[in-house]
Amino acid sequence: MRTPRVTIVGAGAGGLAAATDLARSGLAVTVLERAAAPGGKIRQTAGIDAGPTVLTMKPVFDDLFAGAGSSLADHLTLHPATLLARHAWSDSETLDLFANTAQTADAIGAFAGPAEAAGYRSFVQRSKRMFQTLDKPFMRSPRPTALSLAAGSGISAMLGISPFATLWNALGEHFKDPRLRQLFGRYATYSGSSPFLAPATLMLIAHVEQQGVWLPEGGMIRLAAALAALASRKGAVLRMNAHVSEILVSGGRARGVVLGTGERIESDAVICNADAAALAAGAFGHGAIPAVPAPKRAGRSQSGVTWALTATASGFPLTRHNVFFSRDYRTEFADVFRDGHLPDEPTVYVCAQDRGEPGAEPDGTPERLLVLVNAPPTGDRHAFNPQEIEACATRTFALLHRAGLSIDRRPEATAVTTPADFEALYPATGGALYGQAVHGPMAAFRRPGSRSKIPGLYLAGGSVHPGPGVPMAVLSGRLAASALLADLTSR
Ligand SMILES: Cc1cc2nc3c(=O)[nH]c(=O)nc-3n(C[C@H](O)[C@H](O)[C@H](O)COP(=O)(O)OP(=O)(O)OC[C@H]3O[C@@H](n4cnc5c(N)ncnc54)[C@H](O)[C@@H]3O)c2cc1C
Repeated sequence: MRTPRVTIVGAGAGGLAAATDLARSGLAVTVLERAAAPGGKIRQTAGIDAGPTVLTMKPVFDDLFAGAGSSLADHLTLHPATLLARHAWSDSETLDLFANTAQTADAIGAFAGPAEAAGYRSFVQRSKRMFQTLDKPFMRSPRPTALSLAAGSGISAMLGISPFATLWNALGEHFKDPRLRQLFGRYATYSGSSPFLAPATLMLIAHVEQQGVWLPEGGMIRLAAALAALASRKGAVLRMNAHVSEILVSGGRARGVVLGTGERIESDAVICNADAAALAAGAFGHGAIPAVPAPKRAGRSQSGVTWALTATASGFPLTRHNVFFSRDYRTEFADVFRDGHLPDEPTVYVCAQDRGEPGAEPDGTPERLLVLVNAPPTGDRHAFNPQEIEACATRTFALLHRAGLSIDRRPEATAVTTPADFEALYPATGGALYGQAVHGPMAAFRRPGSRSKIPGLYLAGGSVHPGPGVPMAVLSGRLAASALLADLTSR
């Protein structure tokens, strides 16, 4: 019998995970990636990680490597972060979160009083219950519905995860201090959502972080390299600078792809690791449009503006992950989601990439920084002009200054990525970085699953179930591979 051939469009985390599982199952796998290097959103600009920086859910990667007869540790050295992140509201208001929850409770007690520390302890328990209720039945199952979840976990477990509360309101049950509500509300942005609209279930991310935040030696880019090396070692062929312009659909089935060069590659199945919105928008030809329901523009997750720079930072004790909060969170999210503006006063994430690992602390010398603020996902309709982006930079770096942090920023030596740039990198998204936002109790169930509506065409990546984030994208790739293998067997 002929070896079945699979084409994977995109070498993001989801595409590479699917490639590994399929190649190790004996299929002939070709991964086609339009960029010059694998990794998708895991990418660098000017030697600085400019995509994901917070690595969690290590067991997801361990499982992928172990399943392929390898070990993550052979490819990548990971250091556990004991200090998860430093948060600042002003130069006199800072709070650290630790991997050790007792240490965090003490820090919160000193920052906001014993009642808030007690609130944190109950929050830790609740986020753990959320994670336990949703890990297997939702994140690792192929196509959960609200009903299947209730049937599998039981009604009382379901009610225990407060499915109809917003994250913001649920946090109010634990924290009276608005700064703490703001801090833990930030977990909504891990899926590009607003804490005022996202469901309380997103507090499970707190538990995920307590299970371990990892610092990869050499940066996140090494994770992309490790995923690509694993897929190649299992026999997948990875082709870079290979833009797919069409997914061939005939007789109601996906049958291969056509590259921008006109080259035609036939296969028995195709996995699309590009954002699912690109299919619906016709970026892969007319035949592939019905693969997924067209996502609503208004439902997009947020985009971002990032500044990647090597500069001297002084006046604030940076750690690896740092967050500097705006004074008015509600207005910030209204700016982004309702008004389509760059925020007047943004919350700013700063990743100080040369800090945190044992023995690595820059001492007044220039260091690698990624600065990120939330932005509207409108890159396909409106490109902010250089003056608007520079005005946003001025507001962003002024907010850092309020907390004492001075960064010697030279605009000419800074790589800026805007929503329009993200749209160019990830077409048909408007620059939305996490698929559709998780707004409302049913949003997470509306993501497409591994099987598209076109037989032979499968979906993997952060825009499909179980959602965004590097480990989740890996899970989606594995779900797509297993759906494809099951369908091949049944045929
Ligand atoms: C700034 C930023 C910060 C983030 N922070 C974190 C974080 O700290 N932790 C975390 O876990 N996650 C984070 N994320 C999210 C995480 O990076 C993504 O959810 C995850 O990497 C997405 O993987 P994916 O499988 O969807 O593929 P993607 O990374 O989206 O890659 C898809 C690939 O498909 C390729 N492609 C698209 N169209 C075509 C075509 N026509 N032909 C060929 N190739 C094509 C693209 O070039 C791309 O390489 C962040 C993302 C960004 C952008």
